[in-house]
Amino acid sequence: MDTVLLEKYARLVVKTGINLQQGQTLVISSPIECAAFTRAIAQIAYQEGARDVVLNWKDELSAKIRFLHAPEEIFDEFPDWQKEFYLSYARQGAAFVSVAASDPELLKEVKPERVMKAQKASSTALKEYRERMMSNKNTWCVVSVPTAAWAKKVFPDLTADAAIEKLWEAILKTVRVDQQDPVAAWEAHKQYLKKSMDFLNAHNFKELHYQNSLGTDLKIELPEGHLWLAGSEFTPEGVEFIANMPTEEVFTLPKKDGVNGKVVSSKPLNYNGNLIENFSLTFKDGKIMEYSAQKGQAVLEKLIGTDEGSHYLGEVALVPFDSPISNANILFYNTLFDENASCHLAFGKAYPVCIKDGSEQDKETLAKRGVNDSLVHEDFMVGTADLSITGITQTGETVSIFKNGNFAF
Ligand code: ZN
Ligand code: ZN
Repeated sequence: MDTVLLEKYARLVVKTGINLQQGQTLVISSPIECAAFTRAIAQIAYQEGARDVVLNWKDELSAKIRFLHAPEEIFDEFPDWQKEFYLSYARQGAAFVSVAASDPELLKEVKPERVMKAQKASSTALKEYRERMMSNKNTWCVVSVPTAAWAKKVFPDLTADAAIEKLWEAILKTVRVDQQDPVAAWEAHKQYLKKSMDFLNAHNFKELHYQNSLGTDLKIELPEGHLWLAGSEFTPEGVEFIANMPTEEVFTLPKKDGVNGKVVSSKPLNYNGNLIENFSLTFKDGKIMEYSAQKGQAVLEKLIGTDEGSHYLGEVALVPFDSPISNANILFYNTLFDENASCHLAFGKAYPVCIKDGSEQDKETLAKRGVNDSLVHEDFMVGTADLSITGITQTGETVSIFKNGNFAF
């Protein structure tokens, strides 16, 4: 990759993504394949006044060897020092960048039980850390750069080099690094997202009704005090940051026990190196009562079975079918991109920041207000070209929100 573009992208992450503050520590979790990009971020972070940049390297092929060959009981353990690593930096007020670039089919030969055990052990150990992130106590940003294995999955007919190049091109476009001044482009983009966010907040809908020809017919109640968010977010101290780059969504949370009907997925879901495809879920009073997947049924079963909260939803996000990532017409097999190309919902934990005063309230209060809690938060895509969403106001009027896959207002 052209070093000028790489630096331009890295600068965008440091300035607009985490909005690094003078004297702040930065923790970067990155696959070893993405080292050139991660080093560029580190260098710019120091130039911008970072106190320290801590590199948390990941090697997914080593992780795969461990999943295939280690004794099974090891996956119930999560090392204390790793828990301490994340928590201590979080408590110090560090910023966190994660580079998400896994091979979508990395773990297909691994027994799903092993992966799920490891997932559960890690989310249990990192619960406090994750809660801090989901309440915006620290600034954080998830970004991506291509790896060979991932690029080959997205563009199977190309050589590895050509596939990487094509994936780079697509990614740079989605994060606006192809534009002359990406920082300014993001300012404009934030304003654009704010329009839909303001419309949805002003209407204070009681319920949303989703319908499409795939068979989705789902009613989602929204809790009192829910807030639609989009684009940038803020820490309690008022530091603005962008948690996902790219981001095209306007999102809030559902009322935990207020979801009824059926929803059908519209894109494959890459969950921990396994694909779940063509699945449907049926809800009653918020809980998933029935589910089936054409591919990845066992993985879906483990995901839903993680804990009580993983049987319920934690996010409602709107993305127009006619939007830049969706129009690129690329299936990325990476949730960071696919969720921003489609309306989506999430299994599990809701973001406390999506309800008024939520980030200052304890678990019990949030539960009473209808905010779901779980060890997992996993987005899945439901948007289609013919999706309609009707909003029902507090006084029972209906307002068209989505028509033929796009915002109707
Ligand atoms: Zn989302
Ligand atoms: Zn989500």
